[in-house]
Amino acid sequence: MAASDGRKGRPWRRLREQVLREEPTCRYCQRRPSTVVDHIRPLSKYPQLAHERSNLAGACRPCNTSKHDRPAPGRRARPASSPLRW
Ligand SMILES: [Zn+2]
Repeated sequence: MAASDGRKGRPWRRLREQVLREEPTCRYCQRRPSTVVDHIRPLSKYPQLAHERSNLAGACRPCNTSKHDRPAPGRRARPASSPLRW
């Protein structure tokens, strides 16, 4: 177990760097590089998740600013079956 020293200094900054390192590509479009860290659940509703790694995703700025309140990525609700192929 790595000793955690996240209590001193600026834990957010460390966490942010960690997220960008782990998710160098935007989680939403998976094309552009991540430049910002997005809170999957909005801070306004879940302030306690501000520093929760599982609530953070690497994102590019366009996605980050356009996301608003979409559901969390990775659990995209797809139509059960869409036989729309002709
Ligand atoms: Zn993106």
